[in-house]
Amino acid sequence: MTDKKYPDTQLFIDGTWRGGVEGKTIAVLDPATGEEIGRLAHATKADLDAALDAVDRGFKVWSVTSAYERSKVMRKAGDLLRERAGAIAETMTREQGKPLAEAKGEVLAAADVIDWFAEEARRTYGQIIPARAPGVTQMAIKLPVGPVAAFTPWNFPINQVVRKLSAAVAAGCSIIVKAPEETPASPAELIRCFVDAGIPAGVVNLVYGVPAEISEYLIPHPVIQKISFTGSTPVGKQLAALAAQHMKLSTMELGGHAPAIIFADANLEKAVKVMAGSKFRNAGQVCVSPTRFLVQDSVYDKVVSAFTEASKAIKVGNGMEEGVQMGPLANERRIPALEALINDAIEHGAELKTGGRRIGNKGNFFEPTVLSNVPTQARIMNEEPFGPVAVFSPFSTLDDVINEANRLPFGLASYAFTGSADTAQQLGTRIEAGMTTINHNGLALPEVPFGGIKDSGYGTEGGSEAINAYLVTKFVTQMSA
Ligand code: NAD
Repeated sequence: MTDKKYPDTQLFIDGTWRGGVEGKTIAVLDPATGEEIGRLAHATKADLDAALDAVDRGFKVWSVTSAYERSKVMRKAGDLLRERAGAIAETMTREQGKPLAEAKGEVLAAADVIDWFAEEARRTYGQIIPARAPGVTQMAIKLPVGPVAAFTPWNFPINQVVRKLSAAVAAGCSIIVKAPEETPASPAELIRCFVDAGIPAGVVNLVYGVPAEISEYLIPHPVIQKISFTGSTPVGKQLAALAAQHMKLSTMELGGHAPAIIFADANLEKAVKVMAGSKFRNAGQVCVSPTRFLVQDSVYDKVVSAFTEASKAIKVGNGMEEGVQMGPLANERRIPALEALINDAIEHGAELKTGGRRIGNKGNFFEPTVLSNVPTQARIMNEEPFGPVAVFSPFSTLDDVINEANRLPFGLASYAFTGSADTAQQLGTRIEAGMTTINHNGLALPEVPFGGIKDSGYGTEGGSEAINAYLVTKFVTQMSA
């Protein structure tokens, strides 16, 4: 364990690190101890006005900087992030709780995201459209949409920012990032990499404060042209409505309730190993976390029992300690929320196979939990638990399980394990979700689409389409004079 001091976090506005105009600060707590470890600058309206003014000027500079130059700055930022990954990971674990190895993995993955979008910056191709008349050239060109406001949550303090920031900056947009107040210092280090790589003043701005006050001020503001939000579905619906009212483009990456379907013909050992790893990663605080485990009846007891054993074997503790596989929940408020969901499931007849409680009374530690035979009426079969709880239920046929998988309004990730090529083919097209991963966990690489449908939002934050969210198509037609 390190005794390196956790840094206080400032706002970054118009090329300067500084406190809020009113001098207000917010406490940052270590979720493993509950103790205050630092302070965070709090933006008020005057700071937001300064950020809006800066992002407007930043756009004027950056949108006419060549894609080649933008790409070079971005690649340098990615390299700096890699160099600093060890120290930034420690900061992230202190404020968010996840095991140090997971934090380091997140930082390194973020550098790959920057590289991907740096490459994409140079491929924002338009079209030449054959004209009807001689001497006419018709062009569809891609232009940056304008200054962006991005709102990101605490579960992946860097990864949630980097997807929006990199795509925006690659496209030639400027951006105000409203990063998470619970985990502010590691995203600030990501911004610092861009600053140290030479991004001009005003292009990237970072604020913290009261999320609703900031979004209500920035979204309608005439300077802002594009909104990107990651968080819960109810908040996403509010922000999307506000954006629509002001005719702003938006990308919404919202909650999920991923089905994890295990067929009797699957490699069961692999399914349990891969899904247990995925379920308890980041203590289940992941929008694509597998939640509803739907297991074919002939292998149901066997799978539940193997998964329960795998859950009991997870080493829970302070993420700074060697060998810890699952850290505390990031927020204390999630403990009563999880307990209420688990108790409700038990009242509805579910069987608690393991876990179900907070561990100790210091820090937000929660037991890896398995619930079996959970009826669809239980709240946890309908609401995102966003914690280390796996919910099991049996099924008989392919049609039954597809109906159950598609029952909820969510449609983000889905997982399946089967030895049948025909079943796999049907799942790939019939499950209503933005992403389906079959016989492995292959989601969230920078080069593949990442996003949801239905109540899980719209837009993709990965793959070759992602940069389009920050571009508009303009038609230009020109005739020889
Ligand atoms: P929450 O809805 O209060 O907050 C989620 C995130 O949205 C936070 O980062 C918060 O700061 C931000 N937020 C909330 N209201 C906002 C507003 N009016 N304007 C701008 N930003 C706003 O929930 P929570 O208790 O922090 O987290 C629990 C739930 O949030 C989970 O059940 C999950 O559904 C969702 N969540 C989803 C993701 C994701 O990756 N999709 C990440 C974190 C949280």
